[in-house]
Amino acid sequence: MKLLVVGAGIIGVTTAYELARRGHEVQVIDREAGETRMTSAATAGLIAPGHSFAWASPAAPMELLKSLFSANTSIRVKPRFDPEFISWGLKFLRECTSSRASTNTLAKLRLAQRSQQVFNEIVKEEEMDFKPTVGGVLYLYRDEMGLRRAVERGRIMRDHGQEQNVVSRDELLHLEPALATSRASFVGAVHAVTDGSGDPTLYASEIRKRCEEMGVRFTFNTAIKAIRKDGDRVTALSSKESDFLADGYILAGGPASARLARTAGTRLSVYPAKGYSITAPVNAGAVAPRLGGIDEKSLVAWSRFGDQLRMSATAEFSGYSLAHSRKDFSNIVKAGQELFPGALDYDRATYKIGLRPMTPDGPPIIGAGKQRNLYFNTGHGHLGWTMACGSAEMLADVIEGKPSALHQDTYALSR
Ligand SMILES: Cc1cc2nc3c(=O)[nH]c(=O)nc-3n(C[C@H](O)[C@H](O)[C@H](O)COP(=O)(O)OP(=O)(O)OC[C@H]3O[C@@H](n4cnc5c(N)ncnc54)[C@H](O)[C@@H]3O)c2cc1C
Repeated sequence: MKLLVVGAGIIGVTTAYELARRGHEVQVIDREAGETRMTSAATAGLIAPGHSFAWASPAAPMELLKSLFSANTSIRVKPRFDPEFISWGLKFLRECTSSRASTNTLAKLRLAQRSQQVFNEIVKEEEMDFKPTVGGVLYLYRDEMGLRRAVERGRIMRDHGQEQNVVSRDELLHLEPALATSRASFVGAVHAVTDGSGDPTLYASEIRKRCEEMGVRFTFNTAIKAIRKDGDRVTALSSKESDFLADGYILAGGPASARLARTAGTRLSVYPAKGYSITAPVNAGAVAPRLGGIDEKSLVAWSRFGDQLRMSATAEFSGYSLAHSRKDFSNIVKAGQELFPGALDYDRATYKIGLRPMTPDGPPIIGAGKQRNLYFNTGHGHLGWTMACGSAEMLADVIEGKPSALHQDTYALSR
């Protein structure tokens, strides 16, 4: 089949690769000048099935309420009249029961686990230069109560195949010596043994090369403005200059997917949650973290990318605007200085923002919509890097009418 993918983020690139290796003719279109320039460039880098918790949970409404009255929380809601956010928010609130939270967490966890498996196979089969960091991810706690609650909350992960150990402060410092000089005092951590980390931009650039070797065409600096349809079929995607024709069309536009889908009369419940990230060089001779981690107090997450450390934080519901100021990154810098004093050169750091494409329930949307040949692979929220390869595999199965390793209905638009 001839297939057109809109979006060259981590989801679009991995989708193109999966389709091309199954023998399809694929073209990828993106309005940016290259792959992974938007949200995918801002990730913390964690490949973290062990952190597949649904954001919609019984605790979430109070967290959101608190965020309205404090400027310094890691969750920020900027109140404004936005019908799209109101509609998304009402759906989110409906998902905040404990039973929905468990169902949604499990759906995310299963996809993340499958995805990590597919990802590891690809890295091996393709003999890639890109290598993920293995050895686990550390979820760090500063008080006994927090650690106890985390162990309780993490039962769903352990019951469904994630190897997670509670480690004492001493064990933690053994696993991650960079924390020995930390000004924050941790009582211990959950060590998610099989979680990992890596730079999605590096992975995608290698995967793009493999795609090109298989004949995939990448068309950059081209924005798709509308989806043209005739009855239950899409006939073309239109940019300002031309129409693109194919047998099937895939929307992997991240946070912009909902607006584009609307031009085909489809309502996708995907809304952006803005996040911030910093990539700072490690100072010569400094001890910087080797493993990925999350400080569960500041909610700053980090991964080591060679001689740099990527740190990210914050979920801000403020629409599609990419506007930001240096102040928005101050919580990350403060946490970085507290966690790893003297380790990073903030003067040479690069600053990025990204809009996480969030569904109200949590799992992404993978599959077809109203039009038989229009497919979606979007809404991966805070875990798109983790879930990319598994989502691509499932979407390719849907297009080919094959069963998948997981239930396709769980991730369908009609769920
Ligand atoms: C701060 C932060 C930290 C994160 N940390 C992690 C993490 O540690 N682990 C993890 O697994 N995930 C993490 N995520 C989530 C992850 O980054 C996202 O889920 C993922 O990047 C989404 O990828 P995407 O390809 O759907 O979107 P994007 O990367 O945004 O790509 C979409 C692409 O579509 C293009 N596009 C959109 N509309 C059009 C159009 N009309 N025409 C042409 N092109 C179009 C855009 O230009 C863009 O290139 C994090 C996100 C943020 C913001």
